Amino acid sequence: MSSVDLHSHSTHSDGLLPPVELVTRAHANGVTTYALTDHDELSGLTEARATAEALGMRFINGVEISVSWADETLHIVGLNFDPQQTAIAEGLRQVRVGRLARAERIAADLARVGIEGALEGARRHARNPELPSRAHFARYLVERGIVSDSNAAFRRYLTKGKPGYVEHQWATLPQAVGWIMAAGGVTVIAHPGRYGLNNKEREALLGEFRDLGGVGVEVVTGSHTADQYATWARYAQRFGLKASAGSDFHGPGESYLDLGKLPELPFGLTPVWADF
Ligand code: AMP
Ligand code: MN
Ligand code: MN
Ligand code: MN
Repeated sequence: MSSVDLHSHSTHSDGLLPPVELVTRAHANGVTTYALTDHDELSGLTEARATAEALGMRFINGVEISVSWADETLHIVGLNFDPQQTAIAEGLRQVRVGRLARAERIAADLARVGIEGALEGARRHARNPELPSRAHFARYLVERGIVSDSNAAFRRYLTKGKPGYVEHQWATLPQAVGWIMAAGGVTVIAHPGRYGLNNKEREALLGEFRDLGGVGVEVVTGSHTADQYATWARYAQRFGLKASAGSDFHGPGESYLDLGKLPELPFGLTPVWADF
């Protein structure tokens, strides 16, 4: 079991636990190097750091930035940066403004298939008013009894081609990588196995990301199967990228992997945290 966990979410985005409870759980599960990576938001970092340091853990500033790249939404995790820097703070503020507008369009789309009140419903679940996520819409659909669980909410309503999915323009890849670099941090491509990319597109993404100054890929994540660990370990080596690891924990019962329950990185990779 690895003592490193560099991907997780609090109530400052779409996680279910406030930073104090999240970090305390990570500590109890044996995590000693920990990053909070809320979607498009840095507001949980101060509280998370204070808790982690009081528990004697090494805390790494983190964020998971939503990016539009060639018809896909990608997630870029930024690590070990200065959250006070203007470019990252201002860039993310604009991403959050876009997210609010998207939430209205999602709700309008759901209303067209007879599901009323979704904006207010999702907002009730979103503890951070600037951060309505599809996860909050999913929780509303479950609460209404329209679907039996979050997975079904995504399968039937919140993914491409379904009522309740709207196209949206997030940050660009150069913006996301640039903001983190300007703040002195490193970027990794989150859960790369989850995107609908063919081999050629994967190679294009990895090449472009590396040329922009991107540093690593998540190899071990709750979103990957053991086969995908091996696949992305090979990609990392081929492209000279480092490897990251994180559970992507969102809350008890909402995530495949709990905090601190990750296997070690496959042999021969350079951990992105080696320089932290
Ligand atoms: P958003 O950034 O608002 O588009 O929401 C994306 C979030 O929805 C992800 O970070 C996950 O927390 C959640 N999510 C995405 N796909 C699924 C799924 N199939 N089942 C459950 N949660 C999902
Ligand atoms: Mn999420
Ligand atoms: Mn993600
Ligand atoms: Mn995540």
